[in-house]
Amino acid sequence: MSYVDEVLERVKAKNASEPEFLQAVEEVLESLKPAIEANEEKYRKEALLERLTEPDRQFKFRVPWVDDKGQVQVNTGYRIQFNNAIGPYKGGLRLHPSVNTGIIKFLGFEQIFKNSLTGLPIGGGKGGADFDPKGKSDREVMAFCQSFMTELSKYIGADTDVPAGDIGTGAREIGYMFGQYKKIKGVYEGVLTGKGLSYGGSLVRTEATGYGLLYITEELMKCHGESMEGKTVVISGAGNVAIYATQKAQQMGAKVVTCSDSTGWIYDPEGIDVALLKEVKEVKRARLTEYANARKSAEYHEGRGVWSVKCDIALPCATQNELFIDDAKQLVANGCKAVCEGANMPTTIDATKYLQENGVWFIGGKAANAGGVATSALEMSQNSERLSWTFEEVDSKLKQIMVNIYHTIDDAAKRYGQEGNYVMGANIAGFEKVAEAMLLQGVV
Ligand code: NDP
Repeated sequence: MSYVDEVLERVKAKNASEPEFLQAVEEVLESLKPAIEANEEKYRKEALLERLTEPDRQFKFRVPWVDDKGQVQVNTGYRIQFNNAIGPYKGGLRLHPSVNTGIIKFLGFEQIFKNSLTGLPIGGGKGGADFDPKGKSDREVMAFCQSFMTELSKYIGADTDVPAGDIGTGAREIGYMFGQYKKIKGVYEGVLTGKGLSYGGSLVRTEATGYGLLYITEELMKCHGESMEGKTVVISGAGNVAIYATQKAQQMGAKVVTCSDSTGWIYDPEGIDVALLKEVKEVKRARLTEYANARKSAEYHEGRGVWSVKCDIALPCATQNELFIDDAKQLVANGCKAVCEGANMPTTIDATKYLQENGVWFIGGKAANAGGVATSALEMSQNSERLSWTFEEVDSKLKQIMVNIYHTIDDAAKRYGQEGNYVMGANIAGFEKVAEAMLLQGVV
């Protein structure tokens, strides 16, 4: 039995109640096979994969807080410090009722490779709680965040573990958590990223994931002798990633003709009006029907349908599992050349395979949406220097990072005779750096 299969069996036996974690480990280890087989004996002797799939440590803790009626509520908090071979643990805090150990572990495991790909010194971690900020008052959210940080503050620090936002943890939650950390520890340090600009946040962080997605897409096109100019782009989602992806695509001369939310989608052949989309989604927090009402050229459709529109480039930017095999077939039939993932895991495995087998250039989220965490790492650098860089400085660093990621994953795929398989290239390139660092640091 190969070393990868041996470890997969062991991981399955040990973590049977964590299906998301198993899925992530299987996906990553399967695609690492060529790189691991090339060093099989050494890695087996060092138990490298056993060490890589076992978190350094994980914390699970009680989070008691008082609601507006005076009732005590109790949630469960988590922080999993997965791997710090190349830098302090880094990864977001997810606040959502679905959060459990398996989900945090899967996200923390994936984060190791994404963070490594950025080329910056950040390890992998993830955390959160089964708390839902939706429908809670500001005071309740503050009470939860303070209680959560009272415990979490024992395990994190600017040089050890630097959490960030994720689903349910936005600027408001980061602010409350930062305030509590400062009060408890008595130090002012960059222990969290995604902070407000008035207290250590970085310019471009808001735009980073969407802009980064377009920088890597542009490089992909350029390396295939194409440009963004005049291309028709379809984008799903209407949130942070989708909005700034649309804005940057337009700045590059492309025409973005769709957006979507959880109830319907817009086809706007004149090109999406970003200012109007921001007004509807960021200010009014309304449905996309408001966009269609305000713009003559736009059609609103209920349900899903973005991928049925003829395009040169498709950018899924909404959520996991939103681009299925039938969508992939339609994209191919319509002549789509490239699919790059702004969201995490939006394309199902069979759809990904179909796109790759039919000559569509496909870059997965681990590489294509790494601009967000990369800019978080740039926030850490600014905090350490006690300086703030200009928008242009951060933006040009982000662009360089995304261009480097493209070439890193392209080269890794070529080295293993899999030219154009950017998914494999991303996993291998992310893995190689972490593996080398682990081996150089001995059995720890
Ligand atoms: P937001 O919450 O800002 O936006 C998500 C958007 O997707 C919303 O418009 C939402 O609709 C829509 N949406 C949700 N579910 C569906 C669905 N089933 N079908 C169609 N649309 C849907 O999130 P972000 O933009 O920040 O994140 C989007 C994705 O990108 C996530 O997968 C996230 O993990 C990933 N990501 C984000 C990063 C970041 O920096 N923000 C970094 C790396 C990855 P509605 O308006 O109705 O809620």
